[in-house]
Amino acid sequence: ARRIVVVGGVAGGMSAAARARRLDERASIIVLEQSDHVSFAGCGLPYQVAGEIAERDALLLHTPASLRASLDLDVRTRHRVTAIDRAARTVTVAAEDGAYELGYDALLLAPGATTVLPPVAGLDHPAVHTLRTMSDLDALSARLAQLEAEVAAGRTAPLRAVVVGAGFIGLEAVEALVGRGLTVDVVERADQVLPPLEPDLAPLLADELRDHGVGLHLGTSASAVVPQPEGADHAVALELTDGTALDADVVLVSVGVRPASDLAAAAGLALGERGAIRVDADQRTSDPHVWAVGDAVEVVHAVTGATGPVPLAGPANRQGRRAADSMLGHRRTPQAPVLGTAIVRVFGLTAAVTGPSHATLAAADVVHEQVRVHAAHHAGWFPGAEPVHVTASFGPDGRLLGAQAVGRAGVDKRIDVLATALRAGLTADDLAELELAYAPPYGAPKDVVNMLGFVAQNVLDGTMPQWHAADLDEVVATSLVLDVRSRAEHAGGYLDGALNVPHTELRERLDEVRAAAAGRPVAVHCASGVRSYLATRVLLTAGLDARNLSGGWLTLTTTP
Ligand code: FAD
Repeated sequence: ARRIVVVGGVAGGMSAAARARRLDERASIIVLEQSDHVSFAGCGLPYQVAGEIAERDALLLHTPASLRASLDLDVRTRHRVTAIDRAARTVTVAAEDGAYELGYDALLLAPGATTVLPPVAGLDHPAVHTLRTMSDLDALSARLAQLEAEVAAGRTAPLRAVVVGAGFIGLEAVEALVGRGLTVDVVERADQVLPPLEPDLAPLLADELRDHGVGLHLGTSASAVVPQPEGADHAVALELTDGTALDADVVLVSVGVRPASDLAAAAGLALGERGAIRVDADQRTSDPHVWAVGDAVEVVHAVTGATGPVPLAGPANRQGRRAADSMLGHRRTPQAPVLGTAIVRVFGLTAAVTGPSHATLAAADVVHEQVRVHAAHHAGWFPGAEPVHVTASFGPDGRLLGAQAVGRAGVDKRIDVLATALRAGLTADDLAELELAYAPPYGAPKDVVNMLGFVAQNVLDGTMPQWHAADLDEVVATSLVLDVRSRAEHAGGYLDGALNVPHTELRERLDEVRAAAAGRPVAVHCASGVRSYLATRVLLTAGLDARNLSGGWLTLTTTP
């Protein structure tokens, strides 16, 4: 029988092994996993820290025995592959009772990624943790239990944690540690939390973190973990490059991962961007008998066509399935470029992204317009309506290029609709015409996604020229700023030199606006961009050069 050897028994590797068995009942399928566990739900680790997933073992989805029983897989944990001999088609395996060689007809590499540790002195202190594997979880849980025992025994100093890195996993860890009762600080080298998020959306998350007592240290890095003397209130002080020192009993480092491609590199397989294993559309490496999937491989990004690793569970699982199809000559599912669709809960908020951000598009010289919508997640008059803040990019031909959303409700469904739209190459016109489910508790007859389409149509066809908060200084210097909010809203905060004409009075006060503009363009704004859109139409019809502030005052106040 054909022998398939799989290196790495979690997301990508186990998807491939299971699919291979379903396609070929006779193949010998051997899964080699260096750790104690296969098929564990790594994405669930943060939720177990807080106790939201009560039982640690709930993360262990299968055991070698259950995989033998259901799929007749030969799963060997604590078996680490140390070398590949491509000419002989064998791998060398290190196990507790010695090393051995194992031949293969097809080899699948799914070794995942390894945690990147920043250049910080003192990371070997027992207070310092990472969160990637079950043993990481066990070590962190043991540390927290020990600290909680100190509290039970009369410790008075509050328990403090510092999370280094405010990416997706870092933010999940912050939420988890707060949930566990610790006082948490987060340190992020970028100037904002969740660096892939648009700069005008990230401050919403920052406010949510602060509202939950989290200390934010942005635009600075950890430089040293300094052990504190016996009897001090906290185990360590984490020193930052800005001179701050943060007390901590736990330091959780989450600054990213890199592809675990050492084995592939040593075997002479071609690597691509950032050291990820290069694969073709069938997940085949530069060796026709070797396939690779998951965090370790290079993917093609949608829209920009750039290549690089994307460490997400969805792509890993789908690649595993396609790799098995390819190995067994089953069928060819056309490979889709990776959108990088991702989502994170930060206390009461959800933030989600699909496709490239404005910064990524700009860096790749992709011409685009940014469009913003702040719209209620269901009918505004139905109790409980929450705004969904969307920032999206469209090409000059109307194609959606990327989208991001933040809000308290309904963000997950909008990002999935937009991810589907992106995959399908839909345009602003298509979004405007999408027929989405509506009853008052769920949506609106003009859903957030339809609204995004409408606004993009208006921007792209010139019905509503717009200006951006990022260009504020230049706009204020060269235009008349017209604030069409109510007098009360204006009194609560306004731009220097802005003329306040509530939009309901605009038609009667056109001459006043024209005189104030004195030939300059009129930069209109309201709170969210809706009333100022009406005003922009009135001004354009009256022959004035008018533009609407994208996202309104709401976006202005969150734009750095
Ligand atoms: P992994 O699932 O990491 O599996 C690789 C396995 O290979 C490891 O068990 C490793 O021990 C083993 N291995 C490596 N080298 C060898 C060797 N030489 N011999 C034998 N075994 C070896 N993604 C999302 O999309 N959404 C989320 O919400 C999300 N949350 C996450 C939260 C956390 C805390 C973490 C750590 C990750 C999260 N991810 C999330 C990412 C997701 O888990 C990964 O993208 C996915 O697991 C990658 O699958 P993989 O098969 O490539 O690697």
